[in-house]
Amino acid sequence: MGDLAVPKATPTRTWQAVRRRLVAALEQSDFALPGSVVVRNMRCGKPGCRCRAEPPKLHGPYISWTRSVGGKTVTRYLTEEQYERYRSSFEGARRLHDLLDELEAASLRVVESAEGWGGDPTAGQKKAPTGPPRARTRSEKR
Ligand SMILES: [Zn+2]
Repeated sequence: MGDLAVPKATPTRTWQAVRRRLVAALEQSDFALPGSVVVRNMRCGKPGCRCRAEPPKLHGPYISWTRSVGGKTVTRYLTEEQYERYRSSFEGARRLHDLLDELEAASLRVVESAEGWGGDPTAGQKKAPTGPPRARTRSEKR
């Protein structure tokens, strides 16, 4: 009845494993801070400055946190103390993103296989179709 349109996408072991890792990571995470942090140590232009000595003692660290807000890049500078305090929140968010990417890839493989799309990377994109949908070649497998 209502299940006519439901694709026969069966979870694979890989998909289940990735999903488990994502759930576990989510449960272990606290704050998930977006964006990326860059730590820089710099040289200035003053002649005879300690940053030009041998060995050089560079200025910094300058810790900048950039993230995108509505298409704009927002930068905030962090003290070393702040960076240490929130470091795991940046790393946690990155890990969640990586695992979500993996889950998406695994899900795509499951669904593409179920739908017989054959892993064509352009399948499903909003492009004009180049022809009629390919005939199922393995329709006996139902
Ligand atoms: Zn200097």
